[in-house]
Amino acid sequence: MLADTGVTFADVAGQEEAKESLVEIIDFLQKPEKYLRIGAKCPKGALLVGPPGTGKTLLAKAVAGEAKVPFFSLSGSGFVEMFVGVGASRVRDLFKQAQQNAPCIIFIDEIDAIGKSRDSQFGNDEREQTLNQLLSEMDGFDTSKGIVILAATNRPEVLDKALLRPGRFDRRIIVDKPDLKGRVDILKVHSKNVLMHDSVDLEAIGLATSGAVGSDLANIVNEAAILAVKNGRTVVKQEDLLESVEVVIAGKEKKDRILSPEEKKIVAYHEVGHALITALMKDAEPVQKITIVPRTMGALGYVLQVPEEEKYLMSKDELKTRLVTLFGGRAAEELCFHTITTGAANDIEQATSIARAMITQYGMSEKFGLMGLESVENRYLDGRPVLNCGDETASEIDHEVMALLKESYDKAKELLSGNLDVLAAIADHLTEKETITGKEFMDILHKVRTKLQGENTEAGESVDESAEVSEALAEAQSEAEDEIDG
Ligand code: ADP
Ligand code: ZN
Repeated sequence: MLADTGVTFADVAGQEEAKESLVEIIDFLQKPEKYLRIGAKCPKGALLVGPPGTGKTLLAKAVAGEAKVPFFSLSGSGFVEMFVGVGASRVRDLFKQAQQNAPCIIFIDEIDAIGKSRDSQFGNDEREQTLNQLLSEMDGFDTSKGIVILAATNRPEVLDKALLRPGRFDRRIIVDKPDLKGRVDILKVHSKNVLMHDSVDLEAIGLATSGAVGSDLANIVNEAAILAVKNGRTVVKQEDLLESVEVVIAGKEKKDRILSPEEKKIVAYHEVGHALITALMKDAEPVQKITIVPRTMGALGYVLQVPEEEKYLMSKDELKTRLVTLFGGRAAEELCFHTITTGAANDIEQATSIARAMITQYGMSEKFGLMGLESVENRYLDGRPVLNCGDETASEIDHEVMALLKESYDKAKELLSGNLDVLAAIADHLTEKETITGKEFMDILHKVRTKLQGENTEAGESVDESAEVSEALAEAQSEAEDEIDG
């Protein structure tokens, strides 16, 4: 259990944000006095959240390695099949050992296996006892000794609230799937000790593995080395890498999502469709980031929007804007590819429930006025609304919802069809980069627009429009890159 991990941050690539959040913990483990002197309470626990294979365990080990402290670990799934009482006593022993070896790191993998919410499932005595023991150990130990508990999970939503309270796992560090640059960096880390031919192009391998996580990439490099040996070579060549991409990826196609180039393009247009609507409508929240790196959480891509301030009330206009935004994805698919895909299922579900709530709960429909037609019962369990009206009214509600949705979709199509050049320019850029920031998005938007406006005023001259657009795009791109570098 006790081990010098020998892992450092140099071994973890493509997780810069996560590393940044962990630097503080390392500093604390090395110099607890600094924090104690000023009266700061030190962090007890942090939760590493993300899909399997993204490097959560590796990061925890790297924290121990960087801080040069011992690493104790334990896996939640190991407790599931145990006799009652064994789990709790393991937890007790672990903490006792840790206290004797402080400063140190305790790492609990798959914490959801013990930390599942207590009120949702049938009771499981063993798990409950283990969880209770863990909670009481966490409350009992003295942080000034320098013990930090890191735990990993890919299902944060099932965790018992008690685990997330202040003084327990009150920090959450997201360890998501890597984007293109992250994948290339991970490939570099893993090829450090592998003999590679000079012609090997890791960038190309990174491009071919959209959706792959760190463990897939580590596996790809290793498989390629084995293939090279099998083919009687002494160094790995690009063809070995490409072949192992298929071996590793094809074997997992069902479980993990690796997008084909066409799919990637459709997803990019879909996401930019959402984002562009927010830029074109005034009540929308600004775009922070757009990505088409597939997530295990279900989405193939997403637009991260950040409101300017925390909001507790939404106006009718804001809700309507939200509906149009949600349909921006599907509208872009239809306008640009003349086809529609299953990718909008989640958008449709969300839009429908918003539209329904507007009509039945928020009194925002002309037809029904202020009548409360639905109420939400047991808000803390499933939160499903319950209808309080007759059958006839119920079917009228359905029609109203349908009309509101249709109006929103038409609005989305109308907005996008006036901006197809911009949509294409940004979507192509996104297809290539996979993740772009809100700033890059706005820069390209403005550049392409100013160019187009300029053309419209010089209506007499004939201009090669597509060349102009791509020129504007290239300019915006290089500026955005400059800003990132600087
Ligand atoms: P998790 O705990 O998130 O399921 P692991 O940390 O166990 O994932 O990762 C398994 C292996 O995959 C690691 O030992 C490492 O070889 C490789 N790996 C995963 N993520 C990364 C990364 N970000 N950088 C470098 N290697 C990685
Ligand atoms: Zn969507």
